[in-house]
Amino acid sequence: MTMTTTVPYHRNLVGGEWVDGERRPNHNPARPGEVVSEYARADRDTARTAVAAARAAQPGWARRPVAERMAVLDRIGTTILNRVEDLAVLLAREEGKLLAEARGEVTRAGQTFRYYAHQLLQPQGEVYASTRENVHAEVRRRPLGVVGVITPWNYPLAIPAWKVAPALAYGNTVVLKPAELVTASAGELARIIAGSGAPPGVFNLVMGSGREVGEELLTSSGVDGISFTGGTGTGTHVARQCIAHGNKRFQLEMGGKNPLVVLDDADLEVAVRCALDGSFFSSGQRCTASSRLIVQAGVHDRFVEALAVAADALRVGDPLDPHSDLGPVVSPDQLAQNLDYVRIGRDEGATVVAGGTHRTDEGQFMRPTLFADARNDMRLAREEIFGPVSCVIRVDDLDEAIDVAADTPYGLSAGIVTTSLSAAERFKRDARAGIVTVNLPTAGTELHLPFGGTGASNHGPREQGGYARDFYSVPVTCYTGW
Ligand code: NDP
Repeated sequence: MTMTTTVPYHRNLVGGEWVDGERRPNHNPARPGEVVSEYARADRDTARTAVAAARAAQPGWARRPVAERMAVLDRIGTTILNRVEDLAVLLAREEGKLLAEARGEVTRAGQTFRYYAHQLLQPQGEVYASTRENVHAEVRRRPLGVVGVITPWNYPLAIPAWKVAPALAYGNTVVLKPAELVTASAGELARIIAGSGAPPGVFNLVMGSGREVGEELLTSSGVDGISFTGGTGTGTHVARQCIAHGNKRFQLEMGGKNPLVVLDDADLEVAVRCALDGSFFSSGQRCTASSRLIVQAGVHDRFVEALAVAADALRVGDPLDPHSDLGPVVSPDQLAQNLDYVRIGRDEGATVVAGGTHRTDEGQFMRPTLFADARNDMRLAREEIFGPVSCVIRVDDLDEAIDVAADTPYGLSAGIVTTSLSAAERFKRDARAGIVTVNLPTAGTELHLPFGGTGASNHGPREQGGYARDFYSVPVTCYTGW
């Protein structure tokens, strides 16, 4: 008897219809032979139809009573929260993050939808005193319109959630284009939204390549704005296309090369814990990962030794195995790129003190890798690797640490470990980053606070929290004479 196993098949959602495309597999990075799901690959025409559907649905959606939009968002959030376990397993199998981390991500996605449901009860405008007699002056908000959402693979549910939820809340309609590596999570999200009572066309999903489907969103006259998260190179291209094609509004969240400063007065245990989490957890595949550890001379040797021991002790394995501390990296290309940076780091004169190797039997498993003797002008310290690779740069004092931390094109997150209140306050004042942490890892954010960076890490208004409204709605200044 032959056994056939079926895997989930996700299709595109366009104007409330499930639309087929070329059938493609999606593999498990821990077991590359295993197909996690299949998806219908969208082409440019499908993307065009999705934009038209979103366009047609937008005015009606914006005019629905707030209570109705709230109810839809709340149902989406509640359904996600009721399905944490199965969505987390799917996410861990398709992206490779640990099951515990995947559960956290799914929970965050559900909470985000519920948060924006309730944000709608916050004041949505302002009243000003007019300088003229018998004039009423106010600022109202109207939706941006049709929003193209383009997302990366490293947070397959949380990033779509933190863009789609505020977009829908503020009366926009959405066309989501997820990274092709993580279509199963996006496909499940689409099923949940389709079952939430959102009218057809309000949310559309097109799973295709950035070059084809992504480009259609960037160049279409039917799209009013693009919210993008991904690499800085892609983001720069997105910006150019948005300006060239109708001067669309755009919001870019991009890469990072985030510093974690460790001062001589730091609690060593806290410093090692922050560095271990920030550098290696989620296989370093976080835009807020600590990939530069800037360490004062007095604690340097003890810190490097303790962190190398802790990194070596991390168990790299299947994300569904509760004994694993780290899963695989997302794809063969990503593994090859990480290993290339190990070679580059060695060639530049830095010393591998932990890891540097990968498993060659099955799965894209890489050991957490720590370099000592790095300098901030090395490629190792300047370019985003997006893997479990970090490097230690020695400095003499806080002034030098602040200068080295700021000497990067990026500016997403920056952390310091110190017991000095004045050093912490100086760092919060002087660090050139959108997120600053003290005695905490550089990664780890909360949904009700703004998220974003400076320099090559960000362009446009902040995401998350109440700040998200600045992108997804347009202020309209109204003067009324009476
Ligand atoms: P990419 O920039 O390669 O891709 C991001 C998205 O853009 C994908 O959906 C991709 O599609 C799409 N895309 C690619 N080319 C185009 C194009 N020409 N037009 C329109 N869309 C396009 O990033 P990764 O997915 O590799 O994600 C990793 C990057 O994301 C890292 O640099 C990381 O720092 C950054 N990131 C930033 C975060 C932040 O908030 N600052 C958070 C998480 C990640 P396709 O499916 O074809 O790849």
